[in-house]
Amino acid sequence: MSESPVLLTPGPLTTAIETRRAMLRDWGSRDPAFIALTAELRARLLRVARGESSHVAVPLQGSGTFIVEAAIATLVGPRDRLLVLVNGAYGERMVAIARRMGRAVEALRWPEDRVVEPAMVAEALRADLGITHVALVHCETTTGILNPLPEIAAVVAGEGRAFLLDAMSSFGAIGTDLSSVPVTALLASSNKCLEGVPGLGFALIEAAALERAAGNSPSLSFDLHAQWRGFEADGQWRFTPPVQVVAALVEALRRLEAEGGPAARLRRYQENFDTLLAGMRRLGFTLFLDDAVQAPIIATFRMPQDGRLAFRPFYDALAARGFLIYPGKLTQAETFRIGCIGALGRRDFERLRGTVAEVLRTLEVA
Ligand SMILES: *Cc1c(COP(=O)(O)O)cnc(C)c1O
Repeated sequence: MSESPVLLTPGPLTTAIETRRAMLRDWGSRDPAFIALTAELRARLLRVARGESSHVAVPLQGSGTFIVEAAIATLVGPRDRLLVLVNGAYGERMVAIARRMGRAVEALRWPEDRVVEPAMVAEALRADLGITHVALVHCETTTGILNPLPEIAAVVAGEGRAFLLDAMSSFGAIGTDLSSVPVTALLASSNKCLEGVPGLGFALIEAAALERAAGNSPSLSFDLHAQWRGFEADGQWRFTPPVQVVAALVEALRRLEAEGGPAARLRRYQENFDTLLAGMRRLGFTLFLDDAVQAPIIATFRMPQDGRLAFRPFYDALAARGFLIYPGKLTQAETFRIGCIGALGRRDFERLRGTVAEVLRTLEVA
């Protein structure tokens, strides 16, 4: 088996050896030991967001998109209307999911390099009292832009609407305090800033809102009310759980606590990002976003305009040296992305800087 590459991606990403090692065991899914592990998982997820007294944790098998789909199906009822605040591909995906589910949905859109504006959200909600739910992507992984969550959450709560937050690429690093920021449902997954392995999404949902959602979902599997009732009844999963993924995520959550929680993790990611950005700027690369709206999660760089560097050879040369970068996801500009999350530190990004410089020399660009 060859050594793992360094994953400079938004997930799956580089994990700690201890997290991977936690998967080297078989678990009986209905055995008390695994029931206890599931209980620890649900309690730890709530604690990361300080949601113990108001929210319940509902994990669901699958990737991040599965939990977004399940949350929309469960929480947005057949007579409700959803407004999605869109400034990237993951916002558009929420619109597509709601349409497929047959839910009434509309979008308020901003360009990919601009944050969602709270004042415009307030205006839209005041102009249309039929909107019952609002959805936002916290960090739009399309670019790495950070939307102003506390301000938007306050506007939505002030207008008396329910608020769904896709915190997929922020949860675990950019603090989301459910005891002070009003969020009806927060959605995230195992394999981003929590630094677990892929295979699990979860929702932290206000208990009262989830209770009201019984029978809403048109899907048997994507029904978070039924999934929650299952956990509450006997501590077990309704259908086969990804036992090794759960074990790895519990280990990853213990490691998050040992690191000092989301604030400490964000400091590490910020150092990764700063190290990366300084090096890339020195090599002549520019960031797609303004620094002021950029989260230290994933950086989008413009491809140099002189045409001497193409993504594929650049990717291949870095991959041959052990670093996997990520393609761009933008319609309007040619870009590539470098993730700053995962079990990586400043040293890794210093090594990356040297490797990018070397690759540019071999591709005769610098
Ligand atoms: C990763 C991600 C998702 C889910 O993607 P999957 O590929 O289904 O795991 C959803 N929203 C955002 C903002 C993401 O970064």
